[in-house]
Amino acid sequence: MHCVICKQSEPRPGTVTVTLERDGATVVVNQVPAMVCDNCGE
Ligand SMILES: [Zn+2]
Repeated sequence: MHCVICKQSEPRPGTVTVTLERDGATVVVNQVPAMVCDNCGE
């Protein structure tokens, strides 16, 4: 299955850093399991 964003690469299991903003505070969550595309990083 190709990446839905760039359709160039095949996403694989990895981890990403998610940044959330809530009530004026920024919360950064590291190492969130996700399917990551090698090509675009999505
Ligand atoms: Zn991609």
